[in-house]
Amino acid sequence: MSQTEKCPSCVDGKMFTPFASFADGSCGPAELPCPDCGATGQITAGFAERREAGKKLRAERQAAGLSLGEWCRRTGEDVVKRSGLERGFIR
Ligand SMILES: [Zn+2]
Repeated sequence: MSQTEKCPSCVDGKMFTPFASFADGSCGPAELPCPDCGATGQITAGFAERREAGKKLRAERQAAGLSLGEWCRRTGEDVVKRSGLERGFIR
């Protein structure tokens, strides 16, 4: 059982982007599926807090001037796990 709350990043799983680029090379406004909640509009409770914590992790890595892959090679962290942590999907 997991509690959910409304995704703070989107409306009902859709995210409005003023400058999306399309396959035909044009660009313009578009509605995209929200990457934060997987386009469900719902996130597990506490996601906002985890996302803030993730931003700090990302800032720490960027301050060191390292890409995600480079960071993980040096620290021995798992790339998928680190990526999820930085985006707040996992704790
Ligand atoms: Zn969302």
